[in-house]
Amino acid sequence: MELASEATAPDHKLVIRNIGLLLSGKIEEPLLDADTIVAIGGRIAAIGKSKDIDQDGAHLVIDAKGAALTPGLIDSHVHPAAGDWTPRQNQLNWIDSTLNGGVTTMISAGEMHMPGRPRDVVGLKALAISSQRIFSNFRPSGVKIHAGAPVIEPEMVEEDFKELAAAGVKLLGEVGLGGVKDGPTARRMVSWARKYGIQSTIHTGGPSIPGSGLIASEVVLEADTDVVGHLNGGPTALPDREIRCICEGCKRGLEIVHNGNSRAALVTLRMAHEMNQLHRVILGTDSPAGSGVQPLGIVRMISMLSSMGDLAAETAFCLATGNTARMRNLDAGIIEVGRAADFAFMDKPQGSAGKNLLEAVQLGDLPGIGMVVIDGLPRVGRSRNTPPAERIPEIAGS
Ligand SMILES: [Zn+2]
Repeated sequence: MELASEATAPDHKLVIRNIGLLLSGKIEEPLLDADTIVAIGGRIAAIGKSKDIDQDGAHLVIDAKGAALTPGLIDSHVHPAAGDWTPRQNQLNWIDSTLNGGVTTMISAGEMHMPGRPRDVVGLKALAISSQRIFSNFRPSGVKIHAGAPVIEPEMVEEDFKELAAAGVKLLGEVGLGGVKDGPTARRMVSWARKYGIQSTIHTGGPSIPGSGLIASEVVLEADTDVVGHLNGGPTALPDREIRCICEGCKRGLEIVHNGNSRAALVTLRMAHEMNQLHRVILGTDSPAGSGVQPLGIVRMISMLSSMGDLAAETAFCLATGNTARMRNLDAGIIEVGRAADFAFMDKPQGSAGKNLLEAVQLGDLPGIGMVVIDGLPRVGRSRNTPPAERIPEIAGS
């Protein structure tokens, strides 16, 4: 099959038929009663039953063959460096490999693995601006990388945040990875960032590698970042009582990562569930990291949280799609007219004890991915990384 690397033409019409199960990404309504989606110019134009939808004039028809369709998965926490290379484990094509895990969008939590990363104010601003430009200009295998996330240092002043925002920077790297580790300084800088429309996150928990520091609940709550980065540790978690203080003490995003403490991930999930605030929970991998790159990290989190955290599989998918899209102001992540046509086709893996995709995930199996679409164009067919799906979509015509 022909895989796209180019941009989507404005009139390009994609029709997807025979969707067996449609997961919306919306936590208030995770399943939709529809079997057909039309996308024009890379945006969703119609969702419904086949007989009600105008399918004429399609440039591309995908027959889902009864497989499930989910919004493309979003990894809320990655550390990209240059193109599809990571210096952390000196690996090539880790982003392409992650696309094979259903991920279509990644959010940088700081380009802190860049060898020789500058820590002076001019240098760190320059790295952030160039990273934002580089990943806007180049999407490895089509994956959307929101990068350019400066790691803040105590010497920064308000004017620096204004200048970064004017230059197109929209994210801060994890607060705490640089020289700012105390609550009052973090709070001042996070509020400057917010004033100029820059979203913030923080490194929660023990030090990640020699040279980084412990960030405990008082600092997290005082800093008041938009997202509480890896609340289950990256990788070392805070005590449960501090996780509770954070869940109850703020209204911000609660991020759980693959490269964290799995028990603390379940503790966080249960607290959010008890508080009826699952909409605040978002998923990331924190990859590349000391534990490597995790091409299937997001689907592994979905299966782990669903199977061990008593969470319906269709709801678990929302934590890595619609919740993140809303928290991060992205136009993907939800199956809704007008949003980006970023999709992953999935089915139960061959041999699973589960009867269907949702049951397989609730039993702790990984979904089999049959195709991934970004902006209305297929980017990869049957995943080389997941177990084989029972049903995989086919290109029916173009
Ligand atoms: Zn971290």
